[in-house]
Amino acid sequence: AKNTGSNSLCFFDTRMPAQVRERSDIEAGLRIALEQDQLVLHYQPQVDRDGHIIGAEALIRWCHPQQGMISPGRFIPLAEANGLILPIGNWVLETACQQLARWAEVPALAHLTLSVNVSANQLSQPDFVERVLEVLQRTGAPAQKLKLELTESALVHEIEEIIRKMSVLKEHGVCFSLDDFGTGYSSLNYLSRLPLDQLKIDQSFVQGMLQDTNSAEIAHLIMLLAERMGLVVLAEGVETEEQRAALLERGCQQFQGYLFGRPMTVEQLEGELQA
Ligand code: C2E
Ligand code: CA
Ligand code: CA
Ligand code: CA
Repeated sequence: AKNTGSNSLCFFDTRMPAQVRERSDIEAGLRIALEQDQLVLHYQPQVDRDGHIIGAEALIRWCHPQQGMISPGRFIPLAEANGLILPIGNWVLETACQQLARWAEVPALAHLTLSVNVSANQLSQPDFVERVLEVLQRTGAPAQKLKLELTESALVHEIEEIIRKMSVLKEHGVCFSLDDFGTGYSSLNYLSRLPLDQLKIDQSFVQGMLQDTNSAEIAHLIMLLAERMGLVVLAEGVETEEQRAALLERGCQQFQGYLFGRPMTVEQLEGELQA
């Protein structure tokens, strides 16, 4: 620890070792998790204005043999920092496409889209496009049902290169969604140039919109912007009927949140659809 004063030195001395230990435990554990099939995808339903399930978002979990289910918030940021996000991201894409290929064979499930989170690091790989096309082809998943979710932070560097990659995948039918919209720093100039299909209103605005006028204004503006740009708008983190009603009234087209379903196993999701 740097000696920047007695208070901070005391803080580092008592707190850092445990944090560092947890961090390297997670790193070592993640490599094993990849080798030993401890990662799983859960699926959270996405619904239309009538409440019908139109698709799902794939969300990763780590089934740790001792610690139980570990949420992505605890290991994805670490994986992004140490490069493990690349093999993890490949596993997610592969697993999601296998699932899409299975759904395509079942008439009652063939309409479902599947949204997959892609981190900035993955998108910036020179072979990203080839990799996605190869997985689609090998698994037989319909490209039109695959929706790649990008965050604004993935779009700030090498914008021309990113537009090119997105355009090639779009020609093959793949869709793109801008995740957590409103929380990052994308300029409207960039936004209009990106070949996007969907904007996701971040859950912080959805959850704040009935309490503070600021969040309500932002949510409303995002819906107007999406409409102007011809993009589908999906509200995330919808937990109450009141939130759903307010969003419906403003013209929101798609919804995701605990009100409609938590992230669940694929069997549970299929059960909801056949019920
Ligand atoms: P995200 O992409 O913004 O995903 C939405 C998060 O909100 C999920 O958390 C979901 O469980 C949670 N959520 C959904 N509905 C509600 C609701 O009504 N209320 C509340 N309070 N929360 C809700 P989760 O599964 O813990 O994932 C956290 C983040 O981890 C994701 O945020 C995403 O950034 C990242 N992540 C998850 N899976 C992957 C993956 O396969 N690859 C990458 N790169 N990142 C992933
Ligand atoms: Ca997402
Ligand atoms: Ca999100
Ligand atoms: Ca988020």
